[in-house]
Amino acid sequence: MRVDDFRASAREWLADNLAGEYRHLRGLGGPGREHEAFDERIAWDRHLAAAGWTCLGWPVEHGGRAASLADQIAFHEEYARADAPARVSHIGEELLGPTLLAFGTDEQRKRFLPGIRQVRELWCQGYSEPNAGSDLAAVHTSARRDGDDWVITGQKVWTSLAHLADWCFVIARTEPGSQRHHGLSYLLVPMDQPGIEVRPIVQLTGTSEFNEVFFDGARTAADLVVGEPGGGWKVAMGTLSFERGVATLGQQVGFRRELDALADLALRNGAAEDPAISERLARARVGLEVMCAYAVRGTDASVAKLVWSRWHRGLGELAMDVVGAASMLTPDGLDEWQRLFLFSRADTIYGGSDEIQRNIIAERVLGLPREARA
Ligand SMILES: Cc1cc2nc3c(=O)[nH]c(=O)nc-3n(C[C@H](O)[C@H](O)[C@H](O)COP(=O)(O)OP(=O)(O)OC[C@H]3O[C@@H](n4cnc5c(N)ncnc54)[C@H](O)[C@@H]3O)c2cc1C
Repeated sequence: MRVDDFRASAREWLADNLAGEYRHLRGLGGPGREHEAFDERIAWDRHLAAAGWTCLGWPVEHGGRAASLADQIAFHEEYARADAPARVSHIGEELLGPTLLAFGTDEQRKRFLPGIRQVRELWCQGYSEPNAGSDLAAVHTSARRDGDDWVITGQKVWTSLAHLADWCFVIARTEPGSQRHHGLSYLLVPMDQPGIEVRPIVQLTGTSEFNEVFFDGARTAADLVVGEPGGGWKVAMGTLSFERGVATLGQQVGFRRELDALADLALRNGAAEDPAISERLARARVGLEVMCAYAVRGTDASVAKLVWSRWHRGLGELAMDVVGAASMLTPDGLDEWQRLFLFSRADTIYGGSDEIQRNIIAERVLGLPREARA
């Protein structure tokens, strides 16, 4: 199918289906707003899945459509144009699914990909720990074999949507005494068990989308390790490249919608008459086009992450200036622009901070000397 036909069929389906019981979901959910109509958004995701609109890039044998990058972009654009709700199942679909396709066994793919695609099982990402964020190789959480199980002990932090997830992919040290990126394993762990406690963390936005997760003798089956036991670092890095790469396509379409709405507000409230504001809006538009060009070209994931995170954080700051003095007031709680400003502070941190992306670009892309490490 040509990309224009694919786009037209997505547009038509969305127009027909974001109606009736799903009509009120338009525009709901997303960063800082994940609590909005969560159950109804799961129902919507399952409705999308039943019609074959989830996991578009996956191979046909795993229920995808093997859609090209151009088709996926077209779908995301139409999805945003229709003001469809933010997806609840993105961590499984965009991070774990591609990881299992690249590194999993046939059994693991058969066991988990259908649940992701049909939105029957939600996932969270158990990487960061209190002393292992940017320095992920410092992971302390450990897992040891006990008969047919792994037994996991330790703590993760900032685990997005852990309070709603059925499963977590966990980086744990499985070789006692191992150092840094050696001896780590990538485990698939069920969340609903006595050995796991999830404690929500309140964010700047006042909502709680990420959590502390405590593992105290939590168990998972011995074969639920992705890649070789002890070889989890390679798999973990694979997931990060998906997180910083194609997974951001949908997000950029949301960015365009935010910029259009902000320019519209600037016209309505007179802020656009200030040449400094107009110039920043124009610059934001140029930045958006650059970002989209990078995404389509499949630019290095670290470069792409750095470009979008700074752009979006800047948009939050611009939004405050467009709103003006009223941006300081919260008579009815946060409005959409205040939420954007506050949540976008996180963009330069999660998925690998800006400083870390610059280190990666310096060392791996430009071949500059490695920075001193402890
Ligand atoms: C909204 C949000 C959602 C998240 N969701 C998840 C999730 O679902 N799962 C998960 O595992 N994690 C998640 N994280 C955690 C995220 O991956 C970490 O916050 C991030 O990797 C940074 O780690 P840290 O917070 O420990 O900061 P640190 O690593 O302690 O860094 C602190 C500061 O020091 C800088 N710094 C550190 N090392 C260097 C260096 N070598 N050179 C230069 N500067 C350096 C950093 O850039 C940063 O500015 C999330 C974070 C946020 C904000």
